[in-house]
Amino acid sequence: MLIEKAIGDAYGACFEYMPADFVQQHNTLTGYPQHPVLNISPGKYTDDTQMALALTEVLVSEKPWTPSVLADQILECFKRDPREGYTSGLYQLFQEVDSGKQLLSRIVATSDSSGAAMRSAPLGIISTMDEVMEKAKIQARLTHNTEMGIKSAQAVALAAHYMFYGVGPKAKLGQFLEEKLLYEWDEPWTGVVGRKCWMSVRAAVTAIKNSQTMSELLKESVSFTGDTDTVAAIALAIGAHCEEIKQDLPKPLIDGLERGDYGYDYIKQMNDKLLMLSGRGPVTVSQVS
Ligand SMILES: [Mg+2]
Repeated sequence: MLIEKAIGDAYGACFEYMPADFVQQHNTLTGYPQHPVLNISPGKYTDDTQMALALTEVLVSEKPWTPSVLADQILECFKRDPREGYTSGLYQLFQEVDSGKQLLSRIVATSDSSGAAMRSAPLGIISTMDEVMEKAKIQARLTHNTEMGIKSAQAVALAAHYMFYGVGPKAKLGQFLEEKLLYEWDEPWTGVVGRKCWMSVRAAVTAIKNSQTMSELLKESVSFTGDTDTVAAIALAIGAHCEEIKQDLPKPLIDGLERGDYGYDYIKQMNDKLLMLSGRGPVTVSQVS
């Protein structure tokens, strides 16, 4: 789940908010193109994956799922490895505070952008839906204490759970989310994906419905244009455990994902620990490609 998420994030980051003609020309899955405007190293993941790693680290540590523990971990992940993708306000705040407690006291958590949804997929491995929903809500409230901020985070976690535990076919995913979370998650997304949380989640659900392979899923996630790293990161994390989606991410994208202290090996290690929590053996993209 996390390797696929990181690949979606890193690949999508190459296209973030670029015009449709650039996306069309370079969205070929043959490698990570250099973003023409942003200074992002090809193959490097962004805030989406870093925050998902933070949540995973808390899950596997079996520490209590409390706002202060979560804030400490999100801050620690940033401080050990500062990286792009956070809003400038949050980036600055991370640099100014020294503890999760301080972070919580200063953060303005009224955003309805996609920050809480982009990190919540790992919660899908929890075996009961009530716990998935509750933990997704608690983590969302840290930064996105709004109705849609919370619902979007719950939708991503529940969608990951739906696939991981084979709750139903992918064609019914949107309908399932609508029943659980009372919003039009099943309405197909068209056009550019903006920063609002429901946009990236709906685009990811749409792409999952339309794709039979991970390669198609990645290509379609990016082809919406706009917030492409978040759509692709969400879609690939969910699609990684969908039995109807062939795991065929291209080798150049797996090989090109960043190495280094918190790169491929670290993500794989955390992914294995995450899957062990569910009682399943570790299976990742590296073994099925
Ligand atoms: Mg990002």
